[in-house]
Amino acid sequence: MDLLQNLNSAQREAVTATEGFVRVIAGAGSGKTRALTHRFAFLVNELGILPGNILCVTFTNKSAAEMRQRIHQLTGDNDTGYINTFHGFCVSILQEDSHAVQYPKSFLVLDNADIDAMLQIIYEERGLTLREMTFSEARNRIEIRKLIKEPEYYRDMIDLSLDVLREKYDQASDPEDIIFYGYLYQEKKCFGLDYNDLIKFSLYVFQQHADLRLKWQQRLEYIMIDEFQDIDALQYQLMQVLCGYHNNLFVVGDPDQTIYTWRGADVKYLLDFDKEFPGTRTILMLDNYRSTPQILAAANSLIRRNRQRVEKDLLSTRPSGAPVWCHFAVSQQEEAQWMAGEMERLHMQGVAYRDMAVLYRAHYVTRAVEEVLLREKIPYTIYSGVQFFGRAEIKDALCYLRMIAYQDDLSFRRVANVPRRNLGRRRMAFLEQYAQEKGCTLYQALRDNLEDPILKGTKGQQFVSLIDTYSTGYGDRPVSEVLSAVLNESGYERMLRTEGSQERLDNLAELKQSIYEYETSCGEESTLEHYLAHVALFTNQDAGGTGDKVKLMTVHAAKGLEFPNVFLCGMNEGIFPSRKVRTRPGMEEERRLAFVALTRAEERLYLSEADGRNLDGSPRYPSRFLLDIDQALLQYTHPPVEGLIQQAQAYIDAESRRLPENSGDRFAAGERVRHTLFGPGTVLDVDLDRGAHVVQFDEMQTPRRISFRARLERL
Ligand code: ATP
Ligand code: MG
Repeated sequence: MDLLQNLNSAQREAVTATEGFVRVIAGAGSGKTRALTHRFAFLVNELGILPGNILCVTFTNKSAAEMRQRIHQLTGDNDTGYINTFHGFCVSILQEDSHAVQYPKSFLVLDNADIDAMLQIIYEERGLTLREMTFSEARNRIEIRKLIKEPEYYRDMIDLSLDVLREKYDQASDPEDIIFYGYLYQEKKCFGLDYNDLIKFSLYVFQQHADLRLKWQQRLEYIMIDEFQDIDALQYQLMQVLCGYHNNLFVVGDPDQTIYTWRGADVKYLLDFDKEFPGTRTILMLDNYRSTPQILAAANSLIRRNRQRVEKDLLSTRPSGAPVWCHFAVSQQEEAQWMAGEMERLHMQGVAYRDMAVLYRAHYVTRAVEEVLLREKIPYTIYSGVQFFGRAEIKDALCYLRMIAYQDDLSFRRVANVPRRNLGRRRMAFLEQYAQEKGCTLYQALRDNLEDPILKGTKGQQFVSLIDTYSTGYGDRPVSEVLSAVLNESGYERMLRTEGSQERLDNLAELKQSIYEYETSCGEESTLEHYLAHVALFTNQDAGGTGDKVKLMTVHAAKGLEFPNVFLCGMNEGIFPSRKVRTRPGMEEERRLAFVALTRAEERLYLSEADGRNLDGSPRYPSRFLLDIDQALLQYTHPPVEGLIQQAQAYIDAESRRLPENSGDRFAAGERVRHTLFGPGTVLDVDLDRGAHVVQFDEMQTPRRISFRARLERL
């Protein structure tokens, strides 16, 4: 197959300019990702580069999986090199070189639920309550402390022995210190790493060990990064190190699709790339291959409303198509009903359900949609971490796998007594104490005490036999098989059947299927340890099944993807734009997000909103993003109620006037600020309800709420 055949000249240039620094700046659907995929294949097929010497960074696990598949098709090679997210790639680095941070290869990647389980222990041990600080607040504080207040924390984690960390924790008296050191201690104890650690630890390896740095630098002959407009400072640092030997770096991005500044992404890395790397070759692509002229025109007219942008319009290469439909509904139920009606109509015309996607700003919007889809028997699947990987049965199943691989305490606490083995609170407390005294794991504690009277009448022995059997023999078996066997023999599935939880059983089947797909797509790296390290990185985008089903997902999760038919629902003020947007730059980011949503559609685009009331009783208006679009480009299902547009416009104008002009007035969690009286501090949180920043001033014991009205100066 001629790789260059299905590419335009700009793409061809991008594919064949293999050496040095190359940047592609181009709009949505212009074929950036396609150029990147073909470039990978070109390096391998035409130049004879080994896939294992190429790093290709994507933004989500889902897009990584898709890219792996596409590259596999192009090269026919099972080895697809490093195609991963930054976090996923760091897992690879640390799995290979974990000894450099005194961690075993079998470290655990922690997700929020794992962190919460650790916080639970800390709260119990030290008598803290959720009223003082919720878990999600505590997680935020920990994150901020790691990133801003104590960016060198990882040295403690690496250098200090467990005992010393424990001592620091025991001696801490301020709740925040208790939580922080308690968490570091818990992390180290089970050799856990959270997302921030993954990048920090990798950077540490490269700083401390010139030989390892050189090894990775030499290995990665070519580096390519997709969605570069959303890279953050730490990832950027990592990239700089990695490309430092061969100096072959290829990045693609679209400034109009920057949607992660709230998490520290900065488009300046894309825009200033040529200054950072002199001699950069910049390639522009202007043709859009994805969407019909109608869809593009609507998207272009929306994004033109942003002031902070580099002017660029997309030109469609596709033939004229259906108009962009817009529906004003009287209620959310009616909105959902209308969508379902359109879906059924399309389906009758031969459109597969899998070619339809429902996109929305926030998950809560799906409830009404789901109700109608269920009623109308339209099959659908939700792509969402909370919905899938956060589910109890999925976590339980993964903890069984972790018990087999690691026998760690976190997993033990979760599944030792699920299903019931009579290992209740009292016996657990006994094991905890024993483990504490002996400095061993809970699992070891159980094993040591099987004969002790206190464990009489429990099924501890069965649990130990089960785990021991599998932990010695899992090496040669596929993970999916091990999981099926252990869920069966542990009695876990029987428990669900007895409870009549068909939905949970279905979810477990889905999990097995996804593991099976993982195994078949990644060849040799499909050991249990690899799977466990990677599954912890699966976030929102990654669940969801196969089959002919309508896809439901947030706009953030849809980044980089495309669907023939897109329903963008909940286009209301307060939903999209979110009511959390409080600055003009924030509103522009929100508009970019809407632009991302619109540009996902290939053939048909349906926009909808629902009148009614917000939770606080205020009337709900159509989104400004609907009004932003040149009205001649929208086809209304019926004219909006008399006066509605005018009222909405008046409301929006008033709201916009209230938005502070520059972001200097508002800060994001993590930013450093100075107060005229209190001095320097770190923003912990933004309390929108009370209109205040929550700031931890350096000189103060406890955080303060500072009204938005007060002047804070950026540091
Ligand atoms: P986004 O900014 O949304 O990530 P993108 O720039 O990465 O978009 P792609 O996903 O690579 O765009 O391409 C969009 C669609 O156009 C895909 O279906 C792709 O296969 C198709 N496409 C890209 N280039 C060409 C081409 N030269 N000829 C025909 N189709 C193309
Ligand atoms: Mg793309």
